[in-house]
Amino acid sequence: MQHRPYNFAPGPATMPESVLTQAARDMLDWNGCGMGVMEMSHRGKEFTSIIEKAERDLRDLLAVPAEFHILFMQGGGLGENAIVPMNLCGPLAGTAQAAEVQTDFVITGGWSQKSAKEARKYAQVNVAASNEGNQHRHLPDPATWQLSSQPRYVHICSNETVFGVEFPSLPDLKALGCDAPLVVDCSSHIASRPVEWDKVGVAFAGAQKNLGPAGVTLAFVRDDLLNQAMPICPSAFNYKNVANNQSMYNTPPTFGIYMAGLVFQWIKDQGGVAAMEQLAIAKSTRLYAAIDASSLYENKVDANCRSRMNVPFFLRGDDGLPLLDAEHPRNAAFLAGAKARGLLNLKGHKSAGGMRASIYNAMPLEGVDALVTYLHDFERTQP
Ligand SMILES: *Cc1c(COP(=O)(O)O)cnc(C)c1O
Repeated sequence: MQHRPYNFAPGPATMPESVLTQAARDMLDWNGCGMGVMEMSHRGKEFTSIIEKAERDLRDLLAVPAEFHILFMQGGGLGENAIVPMNLCGPLAGTAQAAEVQTDFVITGGWSQKSAKEARKYAQVNVAASNEGNQHRHLPDPATWQLSSQPRYVHICSNETVFGVEFPSLPDLKALGCDAPLVVDCSSHIASRPVEWDKVGVAFAGAQKNLGPAGVTLAFVRDDLLNQAMPICPSAFNYKNVANNQSMYNTPPTFGIYMAGLVFQWIKDQGGVAAMEQLAIAKSTRLYAAIDASSLYENKVDANCRSRMNVPFFLRGDDGLPLLDAEHPRNAAFLAGAKARGLLNLKGHKSAGGMRASIYNAMPLEGVDALVTYLHDFERTQP
């Protein structure tokens, strides 16, 4: 094989090959300083230059406005599910802690479900809308959301990694008559399209889908939201502490930040987020078209909210019904044949069944073309 296998894993996920090569070159000696990045003090001038460049590049790539802090944290996407309420549900300036703080959640898949569950430990949770009733296949129209009268924040997951539902644009809470900040879990599509910052209060993302290795979590926090943490919020997870200390309140995930910085540079070299978006459109359009044109494969997510990053699909059984069970002989044969061609990790999430191709920024168009060819070839072998 002239190239590495194409890895369709949902996260941790495929990385740009040039980034891995660079990291291997730097492993023992970064930039002639005689130390690998893992061995450096996080407060030394070498690492300081690494994190400062990473932050500058990310701000540049995503056009992050000055009123947003970029925080390099740990704890992952699920950690943020607790960190967000602990930071946003405390007493507001000049008031005592309210007995019951209200938060609103829009459920569009497994990750928003998990977020709501975690937030219930810290605040009242109102589910303003949900697509559970139709197996997470549509996006509830914001006009129908039942927002509470004064929620502390409204949480959405802008790309649901498991069921493949993506908001084509962020909801405008102000237009819905709601003044609360929007909190966005954008873990699985960050840097695949521009961010509409005017609609956002807090955005967060684990790095391991589109930005680097697991272990770094990016949080983007608007300035005016730094002063309402709950007293129980651990100081290492307090946005204000992290912001006031340039993500150095405690030791940050230094190697992960370095790797993410290499990915930011790679995205810039590719033409920035606009180029990533064009590539994502090209890849996802080809893949959905192949699925829709076939009688063997199906994806039933509404066309207006199909994810460009995570494409779940099912093989149909002889009765025409989707085969959920990964152990079904047809599914097993599909996965084995894919692996033999160097197409890895196409098995769907256990809660959804079937298949899923995650086609993040680092997946080249050639990888999707190889998958589409395989879809055709496999279909021809089936009765
Ligand atoms: C992967 C993912 C998470 C979970 O992140 P962890 O780092 O495992 O905690 C959260 N939200 C979304 C949308 C994800 O895709």
